[in-house]
Amino acid sequence: MGSLATLYQDLILDHNRAPQNYRSMENANRRVEGNNPLCGDKLTLWLRMEGDRIRDVSFQGSGCAISRASASLMTAAVKGKTRQEAEDLFQRFRRMVTGSLDPSEAQSLGKLVALAGVSGYPIRVKCASLSWHALKAALDQSDGVVSTE
Ligand code: ZN
Repeated sequence: MGSLATLYQDLILDHNRAPQNYRSMENANRRVEGNNPLCGDKLTLWLRMEGDRIRDVSFQGSGCAISRASASLMTAAVKGKTRQEAEDLFQRFRRMVTGSLDPSEAQSLGKLVALAGVSGYPIRVKCASLSWHALKAALDQSDGVVSTE
């Protein structure tokens, strides 16, 4: 493992310790609860959509470092994006954590690449994907509860 791997691990720890967009949102127009029973991760995701654009996104919850860091990185990555851009990003993220990402796509994931290491650990893939599943449900306007199971 080189210094790059160390950097990514630090990034995950930083986002776990001081997650971005970690707050409830009063003027949200979408709210979804996410559950990953295998690990015990839970989160609530809020979105404020303006037309087709994610104007604001935030989350709160309890869970492991991977789930919190992933939610933090996800919110930072999709804020300001259109629904289509966010869904495209989710597709690339999913390919990354399941180990089927084309190397040419890695750059487009930005800081999300910090989570590439989970691809060898199926349980961690669920931790890293929880916030994205909640995002997808919120974008699909299916308010309520989503589970990784
Ligand atoms: Zn977890």
